[in-house]
Amino acid sequence: MNKEISQLIRLFTQLPALNYRSATRIVSYLLKKRTGITKLLTNQMTDLMANIKCCCYCNNYCNNTNVCEICSNTNRDNKTICIVEDISSLWAIENAQTYEGVYYVLGGILSISEDTDPDDLAIERLIEIIKNNDATELIMALNSNLEGKTTAQYIINIVNKYHEKGIAVSFLASGVPIGGEIEFLDKNTLIEAINSRKIL
Ligand SMILES: [Zn+2]
Repeated sequence: MNKEISQLIRLFTQLPALNYRSATRIVSYLLKKRTGITKLLTNQMTDLMANIKCCCYCNNYCNNTNVCEICSNTNRDNKTICIVEDISSLWAIENAQTYEGVYYVLGGILSISEDTDPDDLAIERLIEIIKNNDATELIMALNSNLEGKTTAQYIINIVNKYHEKGIAVSFLASGVPIGGEIEFLDKNTLIEAINSRKIL
């Protein structure tokens, strides 16, 4: 195997859920289909990466604009803010088609093993958004493991400290398995979890 191919396989092993064997299969397939799917993938990724930006409010992705489709949609209720760990949770909730509020994507979670610092979560911007929108409810849609619970409590403490009026905080209802990841929940479980959420 030449050096470039082995470097590409190593890069693929850095992606989620790919071990060396899967990475090798993918690279071998991409090389075989280099005038077909590989060419399409390369062009699509180049175009996407050149144009994609993060929403200046919620951190969702948007194309060639600073405000995402959700934040710029005046039919959405911007007084209800759903806090998610990453974009894949936002996609899962949007896919359930039941939630009509807006989001705040943390982009991480407090984790000892991954050495995440509270400063990485940009909570100050969340506080600004809560104040600007005059928000009435924060929905904690974080994974139901220890790190998710620690992060939720951290956010609640900061919000209570800086938001004089106070705000209702709710958690997704039971049905989310312990340690379960929101992006892997089936649509009906997620709809039930959102609609039956419990106010703290
Ligand atoms: Zn947005």
